[in-house]
Amino acid sequence: MKRGVLELIDLFCPKAYVSSVFDVDLQQMTSRGIKGIFLDLDNTIIRRDAALFSPDVVRWLQELRCRGFKVVVVSNNSHKRVSDLVDPLGIPAVCRAVKPWKRPFRRALEMLGTEPRETALIGDQIFTDIFGGNRMGLYTILVKPMPGGEFWGTRLFSRQLEKLILKKIKKFF
Ligand SMILES: [Mg+2]
Repeated sequence: MKRGVLELIDLFCPKAYVSSVFDVDLQQMTSRGIKGIFLDLDNTIIRRDAALFSPDVVRWLQELRCRGFKVVVVSNNSHKRVSDLVDPLGIPAVCRAVKPWKRPFRRALEMLGTEPRETALIGDQIFTDIFGGNRMGLYTILVKPMPGGEFWGTRLFSRQLEKLILKKIKKFF
């Protein structure tokens, strides 16, 4: 395959692929020099049909802090949904982010004060989270989407294409 095509495929490939955020190796992230983490919201740390974080997720978010990671939520969802969830925990957020555009990621980097190479992104969608994060040079981690409702556009279009890409990249994980 031509080099350009391979580079394009690379942009859709996460650096790691795990079942859930709880399977992210935080020790390894520290060893890699990761200092900041961008977190997707819906179907990554909360079901899209839920109004509260599960206690497990709250504990995990606390652990991130204890380990010294700076965290920002980067979500395409509305200001109300995002701030209702993260404000009580004191986590900053970029909402209505229009991922995969670079602007929200640049803003999130400014908020954390980290460089792309020392920043990870954890999300459940290849075309918004992973593609956007890779374009910015972040360490991208794909998680399996949590069960629960999904935006119809995601279900209809993105997930079908993701299936094709995952089939291709599965052999690497
Ligand atoms: Mg998501």
